Amino acid sequence: MIQRLEVLEGAGVTHVPKGRKLPDTPPVAQPPSAVPEGGTVAGGTADGDTADGGCATRRADALAEVAREVSACTRCTELARARTQTVFGAGSPCARLVFCGEAPGADEDRIGQPFVGRAGQLLTDIIVKGMKMRREDVYILNILRCRPPGNRNPLPVEAAACREFLDRQLEIIQPDYICCLGSVAAQNLLDTTESIGRLRGRVHDYRGIPVVCTYHPAYLLRNPSAKRSVWEDVQMLMAEMEGGNDECRNSNDE
Ligand code: SF4
Repeated sequence: MIQRLEVLEGAGVTHVPKGRKLPDTPPVAQPPSAVPEGGTVAGGTADGDTADGGCATRRADALAEVAREVSACTRCTELARARTQTVFGAGSPCARLVFCGEAPGADEDRIGQPFVGRAGQLLTDIIVKGMKMRREDVYILNILRCRPPGNRNPLPVEAAACREFLDRQLEIIQPDYICCLGSVAAQNLLDTTESIGRLRGRVHDYRGIPVVCTYHPAYLLRNPSAKRSVWEDVQMLMAEMEGGNDECRNSNDE
């Protein structure tokens, strides 16, 4: 059981919906660098029924497979050499909403989880206090899975190299909505050069999934006056999400 939980942690699965069986442990051993120290698997049951038709199980397995590849990835030589570990992503494999940030920072590189530290706490506040959701019910990832030295912006070649992993994670999770945090996330996901100021306030499209863009929590920490704008964006996102259902969608997928 412990080994199975560790593999799920490596896949960024922090929450398996209640009553859903934990995925089987994949046959390939998990490289230690892919196992975040701070991750948890909440709500999982070893003997629960697969009321969703195994949707969560299949998605968590698929994410674990991608996480194994990411943990061994050296496509970006500089980043692979400098990283403490890869930061794959975290949250529910059946999340309706995915938050996409830029890249791991120093805290994320150390802990192996996305959006920890002060910016992460602010994002948690947005999710929990603003949207009345649980952080473990969304999924959080970044454009890059390795920390750029000195927290510099990702280079275009690095974003391109890591794009396959981003696309595969989103393909597995199949969220109903994506929220881009900051210009780097928005410009890369949407393949545009428009500023975050111009991208805000509209609903964009990523492979048929509605995308809302807002400022990065780290920007908010430096510019508290932007909170009003972020709240407007969050309200627009919630209005878009209203009326949907919380069931694990496409539970008969695969
Ligand atoms: S940033 Fe992505 S593509 Fe580059 S080395 Fe890390 S995991 Fe590989």
